Amino acid sequence: MQDLETKLKEVRARPQQSKRILIVTDGVFSMDGDIAPLDKIVNLAQQFDCVTYVDDAHGDGVLGEHGRGITNHFKLDGKVDFDMGTFSKGFGTMGGYVACSKTAKKYLLNKSRTWLLTGSHSPAVVAASIASLELLEKSNKLVRKLWKNTKYYKKRVKELGFDTGFSETPITPIMTYESDKARLMSERLFEEGVFALPIVFPMVAKDKARIRTMINADHSREDLDFAIEKIEKVGKELGIIK
Ligand SMILES: *Cc1c(COP(=O)(O)O)cnc(C)c1O
Repeated sequence: MQDLETKLKEVRARPQQSKRILIVTDGVFSMDGDIAPLDKIVNLAQQFDCVTYVDDAHGDGVLGEHGRGITNHFKLDGKVDFDMGTFSKGFGTMGGYVACSKTAKKYLLNKSRTWLLTGSHSPAVVAASIASLELLEKSNKLVRKLWKNTKYYKKRVKELGFDTGFSETPITPIMTYESDKARLMSERLFEEGVFALPIVFPMVAKDKARIRTMINADHSREDLDFAIEKIEKVGKELGIIK
């Protein structure tokens, strides 16, 4: 945030070069599972008269009341200029949305080439997206279950001695640091019945390889215990934990 503030000051000091500034951020970061400090970003945006854009692909259905996303999590409803999300993650379908002003909407509908020149989704996909949305609107049950599962799983994995990095969400990296170890751990887990993909350079820095585990609302306590047991077994085998 300090770096952002420094940059905004620098750019605003050269008014002829900076009419409009757009601050773009992810809501939930997909590799570490940490959350953007959107409250601070919006404050800075107001202070320096900037436009804000949040990509909440991993926050929808996860953060906020009824999974409304990061904007709602920070109680900033209506205060982010472009609130974009996808239905291909938490919603389990396809497609996405941009929530913005009517003027910006008009502009996007006329200027977004990928939107203009692509066929629409099939009715089945649209119906499934609407059904996901209705489930979330009707009750907070799935979101609560997701967080209950997440807290349980994270606590147990940390107790085993694994490093889960900066994660604050259901995206839970398990650090192996070395790329080969991440690949091997993923392979071994798959043999044991657990699906967790390795994340290696260039998706993350060379010494920050990991496997990425993801918790969902449909996991039962038995599913989680099964996964934890296998992660412990393979972690010991590969010398990641003692
Ligand atoms: C997955 C993802 C998207 C786009 O998702 P689609 O599957 O193309 O709808 C956009 N932004 C981020 C950060 C994502 O993780």
